[in-house]
Amino acid sequence: MASLIGSLGRCLDYARLSITDRCNLRCRYCMPEEGIPWIAHDDILTYEDVLFLIDILQDLGIRKIRITGGEPLVRKGIASFLAMLKPTFPNLRFALTTNGILLEKYAEILVDAGFSGVNVSLDTLDPEKFTFVTRGGDLRQVFRGIARAASVGISIKINTVLIQGFNDGEILPLLEYAREIGALLRFIEFMPLDGDVWSEGRFLPAEIILQRLPEPDMWHFIEKKDHSEGPAMYLRHEKTAQRIGIIAAVTHHFCDTCNRLRFSADGEIRSCLFSRKGTSLFLPLRTRERNAVKELIVRVAQEKPRCWKDLLDGERHMSRIGG
Ligand code: SAM
Ligand code: SF4
Repeated sequence: MASLIGSLGRCLDYARLSITDRCNLRCRYCMPEEGIPWIAHDDILTYEDVLFLIDILQDLGIRKIRITGGEPLVRKGIASFLAMLKPTFPNLRFALTTNGILLEKYAEILVDAGFSGVNVSLDTLDPEKFTFVTRGGDLRQVFRGIARAASVGISIKINTVLIQGFNDGEILPLLEYAREIGALLRFIEFMPLDGDVWSEGRFLPAEIILQRLPEPDMWHFIEKKDHSEGPAMYLRHEKTAQRIGIIAAVTHHFCDTCNRLRFSADGEIRSCLFSRKGTSLFLPLRTRERNAVKELIVRVAQEKPRCWKDLLDGERHMSRIGG
């Protein structure tokens, strides 16, 4: 079969694999108050299924795999799974996105497993606001997790969803915190995934984020090292040399250059975060039908939309899709 990259007019080399829909937090912008109905255990891909999928993705030209969730670090057996990835697929790059709650426990395990970086989602430095937005989370655990990751040499990206009236006043302290711990801070536009929570009044477009940066004239756009740096625009402060990113997922949709495919914990593939329906690979994955899985992935990849706005209906929850 032709390589996935070759069969499309663009480079599709990045896959995000959600390995669980469970989470130890319930962020207000990601999950409804009552949580989401969990996928039954039997309907979740086993780690063996996931390894089989990764093997196929590698064949199709995928070069980077991000492990996400729900919260990936809550899944039972995660340490052994992470430890298998690099030895099994030495040519792939692996990354992980986490809410940081369990990072203190897993930081060293991640280093040993060959993970050089983690993305930690952190929207506020205020313990009360954190508890509010996550419906009960303890910010101290995240701070300890980040400190541990930094101390064992993992490079850290902090992803902050900026929400007007919630954390838009924390741009400066977040910048300072990121600088202190040597992390790359990225501000993310709040995406209208859950119709109940998102509103225009809460939305901060990248343009306004840029204006709200302290000393806005001192920040200059810089070239990305390569397209694997993802959809963020990067800026550098003229004096401090601090680098930051802004992910303008809403206002500067980057669908034309989007290089990613998304897989949910129950084996659905989505060509876009905003896809209404995924295509299930569960059965062919479970029965190890390599060609059938490949064909489905290629078909979905070919249907990748030119613009996510075509797909919008505000009824998706990020914890299912994996961000
Ligand atoms: N639990 C992990 C975490 O929080 O990092 C991984 C999964 S989470 C779904 C991945 C990312 O999606 C997080 O950075 C989160 O902030 C982001 N996210 C969730 N809902 C969002 C929304 N409506 N707009 C923008 N980002 C969102
Ligand atoms: Fe869980 Fe991450 Fe969603 Fe928050 S953003 S509820 S931590 S999956």
